Amino acid sequence: MGANHVLSHARHRNDNPGSMTWLVQPSLVNEPFSDPGLFIDFRFGRRALLFDLGDLTPLSPRQLLRVTHAFVSHTHMDHFAGFDRLLRVCLHRTTALHLIGPAGFADRVEHKLRAYTLNLLDAESVDFVIVAAEFSGEGFNRVCEFRAREAFRRCEMPPIRLSPGLLLDEEEFRVQGAVLDHSIPCLAFAFEEKLRVNVWREGLRRLGLPVGPWLREARRAVRQGAPDHSQICVRDGLAISLGDLKQYALRTARGQKIAYVVDLAYDAQNIENVVALARDADQLFIEAPFLDVDANIAAERRHLTARQAGHIAKRARVARVIPLHFSARYRDREDDLTYEVEEAFRSTFPLTPTP
Ligand SMILES: [Zn+2]
Repeated sequence: MGANHVLSHARHRNDNPGSMTWLVQPSLVNEPFSDPGLFIDFRFGRRALLFDLGDLTPLSPRQLLRVTHAFVSHTHMDHFAGFDRLLRVCLHRTTALHLIGPAGFADRVEHKLRAYTLNLLDAESVDFVIVAAEFSGEGFNRVCEFRAREAFRRCEMPPIRLSPGLLLDEEEFRVQGAVLDHSIPCLAFAFEEKLRVNVWREGLRRLGLPVGPWLREARRAVRQGAPDHSQICVRDGLAISLGDLKQYALRTARGQKIAYVVDLAYDAQNIENVVALARDADQLFIEAPFLDVDANIAAERRHLTARQAGHIAKRARVARVIPLHFSARYRDREDDLTYEVEEAFRSTFPLTPTP
C-alpha cells in the first residue's frame, strides 16, 4: 500500500516527511559544544519531556511550560544547572513537574529549593508540585514530593512500582532507563512510542469520513488491541467498525525510539547496558567528547571517544547516530569528531574488542 511504502521508506531513511504523524520530535537544546540536553516535543497535546537540565536558555518559557517530566542523567553542573530556570518558569504552574534522577537526586533537588527565600509561598499560593524520584536501575528507590503551598518542604512518598527498567509508562509511549558508570551513577534514557497508528487520508476519503477528533479514539482502540467489530463513533448517528477502518484508513508500524546516552566510561558493563537500552533506536543521541587519539584522557575522565560512541551505535544497530557533548578543546575540529563517529558507525570491519 502507498502509506506503508512511505512508512517503511521513511523508517529506512529515517527522515521526517510531512505526511507522517509523529508522536514526538526530538531536538538538541544546545549546539554540541554547549551543555547536553534533549527536548522531546509532542506534536499534539502541548507537552514535552526533557533529558538533562543543563543550559536551557535556548528554550522559550512556552516550551519549558510544556515539560511534564525531566530526566536528569546525573547532577554534574552541565546537566543540572538549568533546574533554576525551569523552576522559575514553572513556579506558578498548576500541573506537577516530575523529575527523575540517580541515587541521591532527591537531596540535590531539595538543596536547590532550599537555596531560595520562599517566605512568599503559603497556603494561598498556586500549588505547584515537584516530584523527585530516584532510579536505581531496577525501579524507584525513593520518591519525594515538594509542594509550593508548603514552601517546598520535603515529603517522602511511597515509591511507584513499574516493571524493571521502566521510568514512565503511558498509553502511547514508555521511557526506559539504565544506570551507567561515570565514576558516579549516571542514567541513560530511551523514549519508545508503543505503536504508531497513522491515518491514510485517501482511505478516509474513500470511506466518506471526515478528519476529526474521533480519530484519536480510533487510534487508541487500535493501540489497546480492541476487536475488529468494535464500533468507533465518528459523530452522533455515524459509526464505523474498527475492522473497516483498519483495512482502509489506518496503518500501524513500530513506534519511534529515541535514546539519549551521555557521560560514561567505555567499559564492558556500560557498553552492554547501552546496547540493550538503545537497541534498534531510530535516533541515538550519544556523547562524543574526545577524539580517539586522546582515548587516555577520555578513560581518565570516564567519558567516551567519538570512535567509541560510533562503535556503540553500530553495536546497538541504531538507524541514526547524533553525537553531542564535544569537549571545548576541539572547538575548531568539530568535523573530525563527527567524522570519527560516522566512520566507526559505518565501518564494515570487525569491531575492536570490548575492553
Ligand atoms: Zn557531562
